[in-house]
This record gives sequence, C-alpha cells and structure tokens, in this order.
Amino acid sequence: MEKKQFQAESKRLLEMMINSIYTQKEIFLRELISNASDAIDKIYYKALTDDSLVFDKDNYFIKVIPNKENRTLTITDTGIGMSKEDLESHLGVIAKSGSLAFKKENEAKDGHNIIGQFGVGFYSAFMVADVVTVISKALGSDTAYKWESTGADGYTIEPTHKDSVGTEIILKIKENTEDESYDEYLEEYRLKSIIKKYSDFIRYPIKMDVSGKRLKEGSENEFEDYQEEQHINSMIPIWRKNKSELTPEDYEKFYHEKHYGFDKPLKHIHVSADGAVVYQAILFIPENIPFDYYSKEFEKGLELYANGVLIMNKCADLLPDYFSFVKGMVDSESLSLNISREMLQHDRQLKMIAKNIESKIKSQLQSMLKNEREKYEQFYNAFGRQLKFGVYSDYGSHKDVLQDLLMFYSSKEKKLVTLEDYVSRMPEDQKYIYYATGESNERIEKLPQTEVVAEKGYEILYFTDDIDEFAIKMLMQYKEKEFRSVSSGDLGIESEDKQEETEAAKTENKELFDYMASQLSGKVKTVKASKRLRSHPVCLSTEGEVTIEMEKVLNAMPN
Ligand code: ADP
Ligand code: MG
Repeated sequence: MEKKQFQAESKRLLEMMINSIYTQKEIFLRELISNASDAIDKIYYKALTDDSLVFDKDNYFIKVIPNKENRTLTITDTGIGMSKEDLESHLGVIAKSGSLAFKKENEAKDGHNIIGQFGVGFYSAFMVADVVTVISKALGSDTAYKWESTGADGYTIEPTHKDSVGTEIILKIKENTEDESYDEYLEEYRLKSIIKKYSDFIRYPIKMDVSGKRLKEGSENEFEDYQEEQHINSMIPIWRKNKSELTPEDYEKFYHEKHYGFDKPLKHIHVSADGAVVYQAILFIPENIPFDYYSKEFEKGLELYANGVLIMNKCADLLPDYFSFVKGMVDSESLSLNISREMLQHDRQLKMIAKNIESKIKSQLQSMLKNEREKYEQFYNAFGRQLKFGVYSDYGSHKDVLQDLLMFYSSKEKKLVTLEDYVSRMPEDQKYIYYATGESNERIEKLPQTEVVAEKGYEILYFTDDIDEFAIKMLMQYKEKEFRSVSSGDLGIESEDKQEETEAAKTENKELFDYMASQLSGKVKTVKASKRLRSHPVCLSTEGEVTIEMEKVLNAMPN
C-alpha cells in the first residue's frame, strides 16, 4: 500500500476550502451527487460515439445509503468510474478537475451537461467526514482501486474488489462536537430533504432505502413497518418542460412548492433563452405584497441553478431593485457549480442573464397593462410604489424602462391612467402635464389650485403618494411634455389681457397686499393678485422647483 502526500498547495487549499468556500456543510451531498451524475453523463457521452457501448437508462442511478451503526454515509453510482491514475490525478490534486478536462476533450460533441469544472467539490466531503474512502472501477478495466484519506495529511491507494463499473464513496461521519452536530447526516429524513433541496433535478434517479410506519392497506387505524427503496428526486425540472405542456396550475403548484409566497402568483413568465446566453427561468409576479416587503429584512433575489443544481437561494444580482418583488428561479448551463458569491458578481454570463430578465419582466408588465388592465392595476396597487422608487433612484437612469409602467389617478377618468393615456388626449393648446399633490383624492379635488386648470378642461393627475412628485421631478418630462404642479406660479394658461388685469389689481390693492405680507413675514415671499381663483378667496402657490407638498415631505425627513 502506498501513502502519498497531497501537493503542498492542495493541502493549503483543502484547509481553506473546508473552512471558507462553503458556508453550509450540507452541500457536501450536492457535490458528491453532482460528481456521480457527471460520471454517468460521461458514459452517456461515450455511448454516443462508441458502438460497443449501449446506454440503457434503467441501469444508471445514484444511491445514498446511511448506516447509523457504522456511522457511515455511502454514495454509489454506476458511472464511468476512476482508474488508479484517475484517482491520483483527480482526487490527489485539488483544483484539478477531471470533468473540465473531459469537457475540453469532448468539446465537439453537443449537449454538455457536466456540472463540475472547478475541482474542489469532492473535498467538501471532509466538512462532515473524518475519513473518506473511494472504491472505484473504471469502465473497461478489470481492477478496482481503493483510495482513502483522512484529510490534509495525504491519501493511500490500493487494489481492491468491486464487481460492477462505477464508484462508491464512503464517508465516516464525524462525531458530534460541543457546537456542531453531525448525526443529522445519517438521518433519512434529513438526507431526503437535502437531496430534494439541491439535487431534485439531477437527470438520473437518486435512490434511498427508506423505512417508516404507515397505515396498513385497507385499514383506518392499523399501522405497519415498511422498508422500501424510494426514488427521491423528481428529475425533470418544470422549467425544462415545454410551455405548451404546462397548465397555470402547474406553475401555481411550483410557486407554492418553492415557498415563493402564500398568495397566488398574479402572473408567471417562463423563459427559455438560447441566444447569446443560454438559460431557463420561471419568474412570478406575486398577487400580494409580501408582509416584509417594505422592511429592512426583505431580501430580493432569484434562485440560481447551474445546470439543474441549486447554487444560490437568493441571487440579488439577477434583479434590479425596482423589480425586487419578482420571485422565481434561473437555471443556466453557462455557470459553474462552485462559483463563489464574489466571483458571481463579476460573471459576464450572469450580467447578461440579468439584463435579459429585466427586459422580459418589463415586456410582460407592458403586455399586462395593454391586455389585462384590471390585473395590471391590481399589480400596480401592490408594487407601483416600488416602480416609482425606481424612477427616483439613480437620478432617473431607469426612466426608459419604467415611465410607461407608471399610473396616476386622473381628475377626468376618476381612475388610474398612464402617462401615455394622458398625453395622447391632451388638447392642442395644452402645454404641460398638470398634477396636484395632496393626502387623498378627495382632498385634492377640493384644492383651490385645481380650479383654473380643470375649468380649461385639462386633465389633472393626483399625486397622493409621498414619492410621486419626487419621481416625476426625475422624469422631468414625458414625450416632451413637462410636468407642472397646479400650485406652481406659472401654469402657462393665463391669457394676455388677464395678465394686464392682474397688474391693475396689484396697483389698486398695493396697501392691502403690503399689510398682508408684513403680517405673514417669513411665511410667504409675496402677496399678489391672482386670476386663477374661482370659488375660493385665496390660495398658496409656489415659485421654483420645490412645491408645497415636497416641502412637507422634506421637512418630515430626519436630518
Ligand atoms: P469537479 O467536479 O468540479 O471536477 P470535484 O472535486 O468534485 O471537481 O471532482 C474532481 C474529479 O474527480 C472530477 O472531475 C472527476 O473526474 C473525479 N470524480 C469525482 N467523483 C467521481 C465519481 N463519482 N465518478 C467518477 N469520477 C469522479
Ligand atoms: Mg464536482
């Protein structure tokens, strides 16, 4: 028996990895199962070009076997196996990925599904095991080999017996320590749930012997013990299925299974992109605001899968803030399984996917607005505020994406209208898009400032949300029409002779106005005659950018 040392840098990497790359210990199972799946894939690809090989899907599977007495967890596969050389070079040198080499060699063939390409996954086994034993027989070889290691101090390799081609990985699970429990990795239910969580869509069956008690057939209160081999993973992910095969109920079921929300999805978006970047995604617009949505605790993000394997629960980089209400997942073949969070942020593929997703969400919302107005209004009532925040943040750089999605209550229609609706029916002589700010629609209706504009027959948008006016200031204009508050000094509708009349009133009443101004000193800038009043004796108006309502909001903000 030979005892060999890991290469020096491998040793350091191993320590580092065990302590830092993976924050959750449970992912060791994901890594080992992915390797097993890769190994089966390799036979599959070989069979494509090698006539002497027949790939009968039924013979290929992965099995997970916990054994509490021996404190071992075994993962077996019927994949391509490893020769002595493979064991040395693939498991002896960390960060040397046999799968990546295989990929390179087979670049010409299509349909690459092999997950591993980073060469550290296998070592995650040491997060939960003191000793890792690998028994493997390579395809086309007569001898099997046993590789064994207790971690950083090296490994041994010796010949052994194994009947069938494939690999068996035996983990001697660590003893519990004071602050860490490892027993759970021997529990059926726990293993089952880890498999479901990360490896549900592995394309080969993952089997496990499961025991328990169940109702006797035909009986209502008699139980029996059972032990049976169960098939744990569901294999074909819904996002790889054809849209035409799926019903709205299927998506709804997925939404609930994934715990995206307790409500129903208002809309789903199923993307299957195979252009410059290949990915599938299922995205949902929820019906209701999640209870923590406007709190600090809320985390935006989509689930991220690399080739069917979950790599991140909430990938924030996939969603812009203004679409943070979107739930769902993205699966891409172009991402590597072991990629770290820091690396992901700079990943070009991921950036392209994010861009793509943003435009898909936008066009879905637009089509909803166009074709399902009521549904859109429901959406807007829940999440419109977020869109307005989007317009406001980053100095309105998202306005092209968002301005057409905004809605405001209209004085004319007595319901929500879009800016497009507004501008398209503006009379020829109307210069501005008028808006009025207030606490509620009812209060705005009573504002003296609205009278002149309304009398002209112009439509007024009612801003009742704090953010409304700030967002609009960022837009500045829509289709070349500027926004103008009805309380602004210059409404752009007074005619010439009216202005003369105002001048006359100003001289006639100079004494009164001066007196009023002195009484209100420090509160108003000037007192002057106005022609815009109808049924009210007096109103406040502003000059410049900051309106009365904005001032209120700004004053209310903590300094
Ligand atoms: P990666 O999967 O990223 O290549 P790993 O550390 O997970 O890196 O695995 C290292 C290499 O060991 C794999 O690339 C593969 O060549 C080999 N290997 C690991 N597990 C198995 C297995 N069950 N069957 C065959 N080869 C395996
Ligand atoms: Mg791997």
